[in-house]
This record gives sequence, structure tokens and C-alpha cells, in this order.
Amino acid sequence: MASNIFEKVLENVDIVDVVRRYVDLEPKGKNLFGVCPFHDDHSPSMSVSKEKGIFYCFTCHEGGNAIKFIEKYKKLSSIEAATFLAQEYHIDISEFDRVSTQTSTINKYYNAMDTASKFYSFLMNDENLSKEAREYLKGRGIDDNTINEFKIGLSIEDSQALSKTLMSKGYLKSDLIITSLANENEDLFIDRIMVPIRNESGRVVAFGGRIYKESSKDQSKYMNSKESPIFKKGETIFNLDKAIDALKTTNYLIINEGYMDVITSYSRGVKNAVAIMGTNITDEQVNLLKKYTKNVAICLDGDKAGMDGVKNLIRGFEKANMNYSVTILPNDADPDEFIRKNGIELYKEYITTRRLDKMGYIYEVTKKDYGAITSFNLESFKNDIFRQMRDETSNTTIETNLRKLSLDLKISYEAIKEDFKQYRLRLNPNYKENKEVKAESNKFSVKNAFSKAQEIVINYSINDKSYFSYIEGRMGGRLFLRDKELRKIFITIGDLYDYYGILTASEVNMKLREKGIDFDYNETYSYSTEDLDKILITFKRESLKEEIAFIKATLQNNLLSKDERDNYLLDLQSKQRELKKLWIRNKKNY
Ligand SMILES: [Zn+2]
Repeated sequence: MASNIFEKVLENVDIVDVVRRYVDLEPKGKNLFGVCPFHDDHSPSMSVSKEKGIFYCFTCHEGGNAIKFIEKYKKLSSIEAATFLAQEYHIDISEFDRVSTQTSTINKYYNAMDTASKFYSFLMNDENLSKEAREYLKGRGIDDNTINEFKIGLSIEDSQALSKTLMSKGYLKSDLIITSLANENEDLFIDRIMVPIRNESGRVVAFGGRIYKESSKDQSKYMNSKESPIFKKGETIFNLDKAIDALKTTNYLIINEGYMDVITSYSRGVKNAVAIMGTNITDEQVNLLKKYTKNVAICLDGDKAGMDGVKNLIRGFEKANMNYSVTILPNDADPDEFIRKNGIELYKEYITTRRLDKMGYIYEVTKKDYGAITSFNLESFKNDIFRQMRDETSNTTIETNLRKLSLDLKISYEAIKEDFKQYRLRLNPNYKENKEVKAESNKFSVKNAFSKAQEIVINYSINDKSYFSYIEGRMGGRLFLRDKELRKIFITIGDLYDYYGILTASEVNMKLREKGIDFDYNETYSYSTEDLDKILITFKRESLKEEIAFIKATLQNNLLSKDERDNYLLDLQSKQRELKKLWIRNKKNY
């Protein structure tokens, strides 16, 4: 028998499950490892032991049990952290209420939200008060069933209605302010349709309020609760509690931007959608999703913000090794609007059969940027797509996108395919061996300088982990090396650092050799950040030179129209200017 709330909670939670909500964990030996949230960690230094029920960071030495983790992570007192866990995992701690005089404040906040939700529902159920709101919802295809299912409520014109009700039940004004239900003077939500936002365990943690009256047009359409001790926007996913059930019949979740998208599709039978409440996704949200499924279908709003948001999501899902597809709805529509206009069946079709992979998404975004394709921008659009597809290895992806290009440009698929082949041959560092292509005389030296810079980058990466991280940061990732073999080595070194943390150069070399990679590491360099900077600039320069050579080669094509030629010349000039700037910058460094 647990003698206090702490023991009771610890007996009933699994530390791995608790930590995994906030940190991605990978098994290594007996324990699990993750990136420590308590110091500026770049490789997994924090170990979690399921058996012992503790976490420990080998770098900043933070450690303890599950309650301690929540205490530190959410900046709560220990009793608040314990109560938080009891709420999340449905652990009955009522037996300790009498013992502990400081009945948990966290518990009180959850109850306040629950009471508020019931009050808003009660008002929605009043036929007279809610007539206009219900009509509004009905107009959007949201019926009484859906209202009950989501416990959609109503806040009314009386700006003290909620405050008075809660205070009559013993809540203090300060409780209402902390939970963002009211401010000093009045209720936060007035005259709005109220959508409760629940956490993963189904507890109400916040509200979204939407105006529905003609007269309230000068107010913002949507308003959400501010963050509170029980509501962190970046850790909350709307409708996850319900969507988890739907995962029994589908194997993926649909990721929408707003809660209205989710409610609209739910009311029409699509129950596996959740909303991230914005166009960005946090690591915490990704980890939360990953606990339930590795498969997600991204469908944000079709406007510019939504399209850009997709990039953030792709980054997050790729980092977490999840499977994703992207759906872009036509005419800038958001899912809510699209479903109401076109019906749920077409929406489902977009999610399941008209979905895009990453390259497909890049294609659509690029196309959108170009607007209408005319004979003037046709060639640059084509080359833009080629450029973004040059490292693609999947033949299916290549063919799909080249066929799209053929349709959009009204050029035969065979011709496009041949163009792409020529494009790749020109870029391929080993193109010399291919006799089909005539080599420009300056190409060989470019290739050599370029290879050299790439090799030096690998040497620095082996020499010290901090150099590796620096290069990764400056070059925007691990995929920038053009040479396929060297790129593979760079990625492998990154994997080693991710896995082992700090390693000496000889350890890296040894482990590379274990993996069958024999790189001729030069330990006699005098390694320095200043030199590395110069090399990275060289690297950019060589990359620019290569692009310039490509444009020059293209300009030799006699079939170019005058406008196309002008466009290429402009492009050429801007690349040459950029190159010149790099020379100047490099000189200043000496
Ligand atoms: Zn740490």
C-alpha cells in the first residue's frame, strides 16, 4: 500500500512512457536514450531506465524519477507534478486528499475547466439562448450529435456569467485568471461558440471560442485560451483522445490546422483527424503522435501559410522517422470549407488517392510560385524542378513528376525525360566517363576543387564532433555533399555522434572501418574554425561555379527564345555577382 501520493503515482506510471511524451527515445543496451531537455543537448545524453524508474543525464547530471522529470520539465512543485501525472494516467489519489492539506492546485485547475465546460454545454442546451448558435452550426453541417460528441458549448452576452458560476462553487478569481477563463474584469469568452480542447487523456485543458453573430464582426473570428499550468499549446493536439479510437480501424491520422476542420470531417464520418492548432508542429507534438502511429496524412489549409506550414511538418516528421503524405486542397481552400463545398467523399479521395510524397509536394509549391506557365518561364520552371529532383533516387517518384511536367508544359514525356537525363549527366561528377556528353574544358578543374572541399569537410567532421555540428548548421543539414560516397560518409559520422556522443578521431575512424568505410583521414591538418569557414565558403563557391557552368551550357542551346535567353542571362549575372561577393568575403578573412 502506498503511504503517500508520491508513492502511489510512482507505483502506477512507467517512466519510459512519461519521458517519451516529451523526448524521442531510442533503445541502446538495457536503457533508452534521448536528447536531454535540461541542457543544450545535440546528441542523446539522457538515459532512461524502465527497470529502475529513473532518468539521468550524463552531461548535466540532472536525474530522478518520473515525478522529478515532470517537475523539472513543466516547472511545477513536486505535489503539482505528482497530481499532474495522476490526472494524466487516471490514478486515483482521492485517499490522500485528506492527508495532504495542500489539495493539489493542478487538480483544482482541471476541475475548474471541467465545470466551465459543463456550464457552456448547459447554455448550449438552452433552446432559447442557443437558437442562433445552433442555426449557425447547422448551416455549417454540424448537427446535434456532433455538438454532443464534442461537448460544444456557448458563452453568452453576460460578461460575468461564468465567473459568477465558478466562484459560487468555491473557485477564486485567481484560479479563473490562471486558467485563462477570465481576466480581472470579466469572462474571457463572451458570446461565442465554445469548443473544449482536451488533452490526450480526454481532460479539458483549454477552449476555442468562435464568433457566430453578424454583429460581432469587428471581433477576431477565433480566440483561444492562453497558456496555463495545464495547457501548453505546443504539447496539445486537438481531438487526439478521440482519434486514438479511430486508429483501431485506420492505420493513420490526418493532421489538420484548425479544430473546425476536424469537427467538420468528424461530423461526416472521418474520425481519424486531429488539429495541431496552427501551421507549426513542435517536437512534443510529434512525439505525442508517434506514441500512437507512425503514419500521418498532412492536410493543412491550401493557402500560402498552409503550404509553408507543410514544410515545418515534413521536417518534424522526417526527424522522427515517421511516414507522411501531403494533400494540397485546390483553390486555397481549408478542409472545413472544402468539405462543405465539395462533400466528404471528394475530401477522402484527396487524402487517400490524390496525396503527394515529398517531391510531389515540392513540385506543387514550385508550380504555385511560378503562377501560370508561359513560354517565357517554361524553361526556368523546368530547370527548377530538375534541380530539386537531381538527387532523387526513386524511379517512381522521378517518372511521376516528369509526367506531371510533361502535362503542365505540354511537351512530350519522352522529350522531358531526355532533358532530365542530360541535366543529370551534366551535374554528375563522374560524367566524364560518359561518352555521350561533351565535356567543357574547365569542368575537370571545377570537379577537382569541389571534391577537395568535400574531402576536407569529412576530415573536419572526423576530427571533432563540434566541427561536425558546425558544418551541419552552416550547410543546413547532412545532405549537402554532392559526391554520393562522401555524403554517405558524412551521414554515417553524424549517426555515430548521435549514438555515442563524443568520440575521438581515431574512434570515429575505427567505427567507420567497422562499417566498411575506409576514409583516408588526415590528422596532420591544423584544424581551426577560421580555416573551416574558408572551406565552407569555397564549397559554396564551387557549387555556384557549377551552376554557372550549367547555365552557360544551356545558353548554347540555339532553340532558346529571346526571352528565355534574357532570363538565363539575368540568372547568370546574379550567380556571378554572388560568386564575386564570396571572393571578397573570403579575402576579408585573411
Ligand atoms: Zn542534460
